[in-house]
Amino acid sequence: MQTKYIFVTGGVVSSLGKGIISSSLARLLLSRGYSVTIQKFDPYINIDPGTLNPYEHGECYVTVDGHEADLDLGHYERFTNIQTTKANNVTTGRIYKDVIEKERRGDYLGKTVQIVPHITDEIKRNVKKLGEEGKYDFVITEIGGTVGDIESTPYLEAVRQLKWEMGMNALFIHLTYVPYIRAAKELKTKPTQHSVKMLQQTGIQPDILVLRTEKELPPAMCRKVAQFCNVQPEAVIQSIDARSIYEVPLMMLSQGLDTIVLDKMQVAGRKDADLKEWNTFLDKLHNAEKEVTIALVGKYVELQDAYKSISESLSHAAAWSDHKLNLVYVHSEKLSDSNVEEKLKDMDGVIIAPGFGKRGIEGKLVALKWCREHNVPTFGICLGMQCMVIEFARNVLGFEGADSVEMNPETPYPVIDLMEEQKEISQMGGTMRLGAYDCRLKPESKAAKAYGKTQVKERHRHRYEFNEKYRSDFEKGGMECVGINPDTKLVEVVEVPTKRWYVGTQYHPEYQSTVLRPNPLFMSFINAAIAYSEEKK
Ligand code: GLN
Repeated sequence: MQTKYIFVTGGVVSSLGKGIISSSLARLLLSRGYSVTIQKFDPYINIDPGTLNPYEHGECYVTVDGHEADLDLGHYERFTNIQTTKANNVTTGRIYKDVIEKERRGDYLGKTVQIVPHITDEIKRNVKKLGEEGKYDFVITEIGGTVGDIESTPYLEAVRQLKWEMGMNALFIHLTYVPYIRAAKELKTKPTQHSVKMLQQTGIQPDILVLRTEKELPPAMCRKVAQFCNVQPEAVIQSIDARSIYEVPLMMLSQGLDTIVLDKMQVAGRKDADLKEWNTFLDKLHNAEKEVTIALVGKYVELQDAYKSISESLSHAAAWSDHKLNLVYVHSEKLSDSNVEEKLKDMDGVIIAPGFGKRGIEGKLVALKWCREHNVPTFGICLGMQCMVIEFARNVLGFEGADSVEMNPETPYPVIDLMEEQKEISQMGGTMRLGAYDCRLKPESKAAKAYGKTQVKERHRHRYEFNEKYRSDFEKGGMECVGINPDTKLVEVVEVPTKRWYVGTQYHPEYQSTVLRPNPLFMSFINAAIAYSEEKK
């Protein structure tokens, strides 16, 4: 089948959940046996979101090939179970960089380089790239930003042109918002009408409208929107607040989003959607009776998007273990010896979050000391693992002032040190140790038992590492290095085997947990937390 392109735009406000709708549609098409990929175009000038702080942009997701990506790519993978790569996330910065490099090389043969056609052509080339691999029946392209933004204009022009080139093989889905005015007790469709008008002014006629709403939209209202916006009535779909994002594919299925797409793109010979496993997950997610309480200790707790992949991984693991997840965010800057007991005593498990810089570190160390001494299942991820090492050095090995050189370059015990390969690096963007690397696990370790194998590959994003020089001190003291990179010998996993579950990973297992394939380490951690909660009763 010739590759079909679906473009998803958004209007009225941002944060409508374009990523979730794109992912849900992808899930439905996959469940009918089609091959699908999703890509995101972000209209900012940063080359990638790697240099953005979480307050700006939430979590930075990392793809298997080491691209620092928008967090929506995390949703794409969690919904579809298909890995994304650098090609799935393109920014305006990257488009411009490529065009400017071509100009410097003389590729434009003396022409004046302009937004149209040079930037738009570069966008079109990137849109078609994944489709040209011949692997996908559908390429869903999410255009970041909101229609009407100055930044989005070249993207809309590029996809408008593509529609003309592709005809039936291209389709537009536009997401808008229908506000509910409480005082008037009314839902309002005017913003949707305006937003569609604005889209039409760019030359794009949406085929399908998805209306985000907090309240059920009356059918007459959908018909009215259809009439005003030149869209068929059945192609006006509501996206009402759901109990969980993972319910959205079913909401879309019940309104026939996938069927409308297939009809409009004239795809023949379809299979029915097989969502058996997905439904099993949802059933467990919504109907679990017992609860497991996990604390996530980090410095961005007021901003839950900063730890999106971790919270989603926990929710996958808890649901598959037939438990409801009660996730408690604990602010690392507010933790001290005097309140740690009160904050953590009711937890069945504690996660120490990744991060950069000094802020909140002492709170993470306080939490770790308490967890280690009280034998609470504890999971340290990246910086969390490095903190496990620092805390153990200070309080068990007696290495006073032990630290990471990231926090204290003068520390007498640099138990976490800058990686050799990082020492000459001065550029910030894309220069960390990024992407998937092999890790060999000690057969008897908790990690190896969790994965059920000793050879794993997980994704990384860091500059610092466990200092090999102290390895024997740690092992003698009771913290073992159980995961090693076979090529570089870097320590990737540490454990205190005498504890219930005290595991730290230099890598980020949360980047590889999907609904249908929960990450084994998260499963193992949640199971340890559940066992601990049973024991406490
Ligand atoms: N700041 C630490 C490093 O660069 C940890 C990074 C992280 O947690 N992702 O090594």
